[in-house]
Amino acid sequence: MTHPDPDSRSHALHQRAKRSLPGGNTRTTVYSKPWPIYAARGEGCRVIDADGVARIDCINNFTALIHGHAHPVVTEAACRQAALGTAFGLPTESEIDLAELIVDRLPAADQVRFTNSGTEAVMMALKAARAFTGRPKIAKCEGAYHGSYDYAEVSLDPGPRDWGGNAPVSVAYAKGTPQAVLSDVLAIPFNDIDAAVSLIREHGADLACVIVDPMPNRAGLAPADRAYLLALREVTREVGALLIFDEVITFRLGYNGAQGLWDIAPDLTTLGKIIGGGFPVGAVAGRAEIMAVFDPTAGKPALPHGGTFSANPVTMRAGHVAMDLLDAQAFARLDAIGERVRDGIAASFARHGLAGGPVGLGSLLKVHFADRPVRDYRSAYQTPEETARLAAFHLGLINRGVLTAGYGLMALSTPMTDDDVATIIAACDGALAALAAA
Ligand code: PMP
Repeated sequence: MTHPDPDSRSHALHQRAKRSLPGGNTRTTVYSKPWPIYAARGEGCRVIDADGVARIDCINNFTALIHGHAHPVVTEAACRQAALGTAFGLPTESEIDLAELIVDRLPAADQVRFTNSGTEAVMMALKAARAFTGRPKIAKCEGAYHGSYDYAEVSLDPGPRDWGGNAPVSVAYAKGTPQAVLSDVLAIPFNDIDAAVSLIREHGADLACVIVDPMPNRAGLAPADRAYLLALREVTREVGALLIFDEVITFRLGYNGAQGLWDIAPDLTTLGKIIGGGFPVGAVAGRAEIMAVFDPTAGKPALPHGGTFSANPVTMRAGHVAMDLLDAQAFARLDAIGERVRDGIAASFARHGLAGGPVGLGSLLKVHFADRPVRDYRSAYQTPEETARLAAFHLGLINRGVLTAGYGLMALSTPMTDDDVATIIAACDGALAALAAA
């Protein structure tokens, strides 16, 4: 069956969905034109769609599923906990177990606070920085995605008309964003030390924190230069603001996360995705002195925070076994298959005489059709022709049995065998050959 097929069950489901969900959609990120493929079930590194077609999954729920689908150990842990109760109005031992594992892997963090999503983790980290410093403003990188908290969304997708020289302008993402939000967010360029440092110094007295994703997916997935992150580390100390690493995605880059790879200690870290073993999750981790803003033992905390399903034991148990499976050997294997896929795709670009290629690290990569180096949001910004090529590549992969995010992101998983990796590389080569011939 070739996608899109008007006779497919996915099409029928989308038609039905349009009546009860706006545009048939309840998650902007999973919509794709003319209608999305509906998943029926997952099995290891494959997803079987509503029409029974199996494809290798390189979306992995937008990087959250590092062990693919329905890993038996994770499934067993979740089912066992579900039979014992899924959520209580009381704490459970499971939250201590997962917090200890996280603190063990993040030398910069003494304590953890759980949330239900990465969005909430970022929201609580930004609020923690405000509560700790008593300052209102936050700084973030142009084009970087940190979830849907109003402040974190500023300058997510400004177009060239909104680019003001080297000093990005704070631009609203969602219609209706209050001006007050924009005034309290400083957008800084990614991987540009001089511009970022001078902007941070200029606004330093009002800045609670700088939040940075060491390899920002929506801004192109180019890894940060270590010197850039070090400069942020130094200038935040100088102006008395906190440095937050958003590792919701990059925690899958290594045993100690991106901060381990880059060897830089942030004040706070936001986590999500892989730490929940496939269940909804988020977390803020950091130094005890800062995390004390959440501490209720001496009366009302500086930053009260609840959450009906925060630290629910199903997520905690599934997350714990999933993280336990992710040992040094698993990371070595993920790094190796990531490199193989990136090398394979780069070779195909060269063979077919196409401009562009893959960027990324470890188990993550993104394909660009740019005739220039991609190292920040502006260099990753696509021309209409590049956008059209990416869409054709995405569809070409779907019809060669490989699922990727529509914007080019691929996330690999531990159940992928050498044969699966070869299939992914061959599918990419086929899709690129078709593009070159068109
Ligand atoms: N931060 C980053 C870096 C992310 O990539 C995401 C989600 N893709 C989030 C925060 C928000 O996480 P969630 O979707 O769980 O709310």
